Amino acid sequence: MHRNRKLDLEGALIARDRVGIQDFVLLDAYTSETAFLDNLKKRFSEDLIYTYIGTLLVSVNPYKDLDIYNKKQMEIYMGVNFFELPPHIYALADNAYHTMLSEANNHFILISGESGAGKTEASKKILQYYAVSCPSLAILDTVRDRMLMSNPVLEAFGNAKTLKNDNSSRFGKYMDIQFNAQGDAVGGHILSYLLEKSRVVHQNHGERNFHVFYQLIESGEEDILRQLGLEKNVQHYKYLAQGECSTVSSINDKNDWKTMRNALSVVDFDKGDIEHLFGIIASVLHLGNVHFERDSKGSATLFGHAELRWVSKLLSVNVQVLQEALTYRKIEAKTDEVLSPFTVDHAIYARDALAKAIYGRTFNWLVNRINHSLENQDPSRKTVIGLLDIYGFEVFHVNSFEQFCINYCNEKLQQLFIQLTLKAEQEEYEAEGIEWEPVQFFNNKIICDLVEEKHRGIIAVLDEECLRPGDATDLTFLEKLEEKMGHHPHFVTHMLADKSTRRSLERGDFRLLHYAGEVTYCVVGFIDKNNDLLYRNIKEVMHHSKNSIVRQCFPSTETEIRRRPETVATQFKNSLQKLTEILMAKEAWYVRCLKSNDSKKPGHFDDVLVRHQVKYLGLMEHLRVRRAGFAYRRRYDVFLQRYKPLCPATWPHWRGLAAEGVETLVKHLGYKHDEYKMGRTKIFIRHPRTLFATEDAYEI
Ligand code: ATP
Ligand code: MG
Repeated sequence: MHRNRKLDLEGALIARDRVGIQDFVLLDAYTSETAFLDNLKKRFSEDLIYTYIGTLLVSVNPYKDLDIYNKKQMEIYMGVNFFELPPHIYALADNAYHTMLSEANNHFILISGESGAGKTEASKKILQYYAVSCPSLAILDTVRDRMLMSNPVLEAFGNAKTLKNDNSSRFGKYMDIQFNAQGDAVGGHILSYLLEKSRVVHQNHGERNFHVFYQLIESGEEDILRQLGLEKNVQHYKYLAQGECSTVSSINDKNDWKTMRNALSVVDFDKGDIEHLFGIIASVLHLGNVHFERDSKGSATLFGHAELRWVSKLLSVNVQVLQEALTYRKIEAKTDEVLSPFTVDHAIYARDALAKAIYGRTFNWLVNRINHSLENQDPSRKTVIGLLDIYGFEVFHVNSFEQFCINYCNEKLQQLFIQLTLKAEQEEYEAEGIEWEPVQFFNNKIICDLVEEKHRGIIAVLDEECLRPGDATDLTFLEKLEEKMGHHPHFVTHMLADKSTRRSLERGDFRLLHYAGEVTYCVVGFIDKNNDLLYRNIKEVMHHSKNSIVRQCFPSTETEIRRRPETVATQFKNSLQKLTEILMAKEAWYVRCLKSNDSKKPGHFDDVLVRHQVKYLGLMEHLRVRRAGFAYRRRYDVFLQRYKPLCPATWPHWRGLAAEGVETLVKHLGYKHDEYKMGRTKIFIRHPRTLFATEDAYEI
């Protein structure tokens, strides 16, 4: 730990605690939820949105710009001990960074909270902090700029206005920032998770499609729009008009367009890439306006050809072949291929499936392309800090497959948090023989299992229905669920419910009692969305495109391999499993974001809403574990090795057992009896300030 300042820690703590208490661990009535909320509210009313629970940072969304995120503020936090200054996202970022450097290991920052709580904003602040605070090497400036500029690009393509959040992330993002031994940011890598691509073709009332569409239409230069065949009128496009809210007061599409265009060049997109990219965006809009009519035989026929001609021009595919792929299905007989005409519904289905596939695959291409530009420039040893910012828990009036996936993902992250904090912490005390009063907490593993268990979970049942030939429908899926889940305490349907609950459930619903509250899911569309079918002849057409991005997005291998691809839910489940493994191998830092109110009102603190989040996020339990526990622990040999110069009896060599050496050392340093405990293999130190004082002594 390279701390560049020495302060009177006790003094600093007290002097800066002007409003409320900045670390809940120091709260007298630490078991009282009301005292917890009072403290949070008191601080919030003074625009102090951050409070610690030990090293965990609680953040309450102020819904207004605070003057706490400038370069001057960043400088104040650089290299300063965690508890010396008022809580801040910069302090957490800085502490993670310095710990990574001094211990040469990998870290991650888990940012969680429901939709609109401030996760994406927090992750951007952390990234900005690293961009400014890490030592600067001229050659690495490009990496840093690219990392920062990847945000506006991915947000334009992956965020949208929902009823919960005007800038809601509709994909999950995990970003590794790679550092060399000197602490320079040398590269980065992004993993993205399940984009909500159904939004491309359908938006609920009051919601929008992805930002990029509006940016292009509203702000695209005249000659670009002309080349793309687009009208400067959002209402003209079916895929944009359904939500009836094309403009949003908090969003400036014009400025965002400029920022995004500039960002694209920073992340190294050349003119050709950009042309192809906007060609694809425009082709999706034209595709949405492709209209079918019923002919005399009941089959779908194209109504007007202008839109399709634009699609084929922009995607560089043959117009006749495309038309055929949208109105006929190719069926392979033994020696032959037969064309079977679509009904209008089928043709619409094929058209929408194509629009979703083009957009979803282009998004993945974009992430890969950005990764390419972020590739590590320095081959020496590297450590990473991972930033996890994923779509938050959400409940709408009608919840579908997308909410099911998003909420399942949040369930998994809560499980990870429990495993790494509450459970692991208590197990370690037990293993080390430290006296301990166990803290009770709700373990949501039961809900994760309900969703993901092999052969028996909801995803397994859904997959089984998706793969079953014949008459599988959303309702038969629901029936299978009722059969299998029966009387699971976290699952209920209309049929399984008691009288009082039944009234609130429709026949096509199932309800899950998530850790964050109950959510009713409507099964309509589950089978379809999980299958995510795209007809083979459409894939073939796309593969022959002359637009280089489209061609890469539809590789020939896909049409050659006849194996059925994994379903969407299973792919998602597997990717979350991999993510868990990535995270488990790193040291964790937590930012828990709370939503202050449901109406995005600046400075308004809704007691009921905040209390609910405090409860389900397990903050009280976390506080109890922290309070009773020890903030810092190290193996005896490691601790002794580092601090032995501070004591004549241990310097330069200690010949006895490491544990005894440590005991001698800390007694010499004047550690008070209740400040530390000796475990079987490790020393446990109650408060970080004890260790900071030792560190400071070390540096003198
Ligand atoms: P989702 O899960 O929907 O992606 P989220 O948790 O990422 O939600 P954000 O997009 O980060 O939520 O925040 C929602 C809005 O709240 C922001 O657009 C901004 O207006 C406001 N906000 C969040 N954090 C802050 C902050 N620290 N200061 C000021 N405003 C904030
Ligand atoms: Mg977000």
